[in-house]
Amino acid sequence: MISPERSELQDLVRQWHQQALPWTPAGTGTRLHWGAPLEQPQLLSTTKLNRLLHHSSGDFTVTVEAGLPLIDLQAALADSKQWLAVDWPWGSGTDGGQSGTVGGLVARGMAGGFRQRYLGIRDQVIGLEVMRADTTEAKAGGQVVKNVAGYDLMRLFCGSWGSLGLITQVTLRTFPQQPHRAGLLFQGELKALESMRQACLRADLMPQRLDWRTTEGDPSLLLGLVSISLEAVTAQLEGLRSHAMTLGLEAISLDADSLQELEGTGREAGASLKKERWLIRIGLPPAQAHALLGEADIRLNLAAGIGQGMGWAEPEDLPSQQVTSLSERCQSLGGQLTLLQQPTANGLKPWPTGANHDLVAAVKREFDPLQQLARGRLPGV
Ligand SMILES: Cc1cc2nc3c(=O)[nH]c(=O)nc-3n(C[C@H](O)[C@H](O)[C@H](O)COP(=O)(O)OP(=O)(O)OC[C@H]3O[C@@H](n4cnc5c(N)ncnc54)[C@H](O)[C@@H]3O)c2cc1C
Repeated sequence: MISPERSELQDLVRQWHQQALPWTPAGTGTRLHWGAPLEQPQLLSTTKLNRLLHHSSGDFTVTVEAGLPLIDLQAALADSKQWLAVDWPWGSGTDGGQSGTVGGLVARGMAGGFRQRYLGIRDQVIGLEVMRADTTEAKAGGQVVKNVAGYDLMRLFCGSWGSLGLITQVTLRTFPQQPHRAGLLFQGELKALESMRQACLRADLMPQRLDWRTTEGDPSLLLGLVSISLEAVTAQLEGLRSHAMTLGLEAISLDADSLQELEGTGREAGASLKKERWLIRIGLPPAQAHALLGEADIRLNLAAGIGQGMGWAEPEDLPSQQVTSLSERCQSLGGQLTLLQQPTANGLKPWPTGANHDLVAAVKREFDPLQQLARGRLPGV
């Protein structure tokens, strides 16, 4: 893995372009193995492009170089009582120690349960700078929240998995930290839990997170609320607790610490990144997610308002035929399953070929005609 300084970047990329050398953009390289295997080993890491360039706390925006670790960005924003409203990525550890870089986060374009309230990372990016494989540099968006001019390069690069160009700089929205946070864990019958899910989404105070979980065995729903008003949080939780009782559900109160501990389940650094473990990304129409929960023999954590999340299992607990059945079941419910990690020797296809394959391939040819970047992977198709 080569980690050039900013001043060396253009010469290096130019040299590789002249040689038509295949290479892959990388952050810290922790999750490069997720998804379809890469066909070439040359990696260009952004770890030396790691400066926080500008934080405008009054405008709630921050501009960073792509290699800035997410954990460092969160620590810097916390000094101003702000944060980037994303969960620690899978495999980060509960303290975010292995959360990777901001560029890697944007390149993968995925989000967790906080998306319920703050939308996904693609909605939080307001400006981007990239370098193509032929060293052409391009900018999109800006440093203010309202900026709609021009072609929407930002959305294209969110979720590009390093296949279109190297993200060098990112401007993001920040959010104020809110002082009062608490939650409830609902347990009981699946049908009643689905009614509870709908009630939580209709409540006055929009949940900060509402996650389906099978991590403790039987399905449960984890609700997190946040506000500047303690009274608002308390009143809302009381109302939802009473409703849960009418549905015959148990509602366990969670203070901010116990809520944080529960939402960290599955994000343990060593275990989640262990290559022999099944790690599966699932997306479903939200109203269908509960159908899968009752059947799947795997630990799941899905954002219940969005229908997206992760599943994981040890190799001995999940034969590959069951993964194939799970994938078919997801498709029959209108969703999709992506394999991020699978125990070796299984050789299952990481994702089905999508209807948009030809379009994505054509976009890729425009950005990277020599097919230098991230060979072996065309994301999302
Ligand atoms: C809640 C949550 C859930 C997530 N779930 C998933 C998930 O299900 N699947 C998933 O794949 N990711 C997911 N992510 C994102 C994932 O965690 C990021 O890949 C990781 O944070 C980045 O780590 P890294 O910087 O070490 O990147 P690496 O492991 O080095 O690279 C990750 C990917 O990003 C590309 N990349 C890295 N830096 C750049 C750059 N500067 N320019 C262009 N491309 C670049 C690489 O080519 C590679 O495809 C999730 C993130 C969050 C917050």
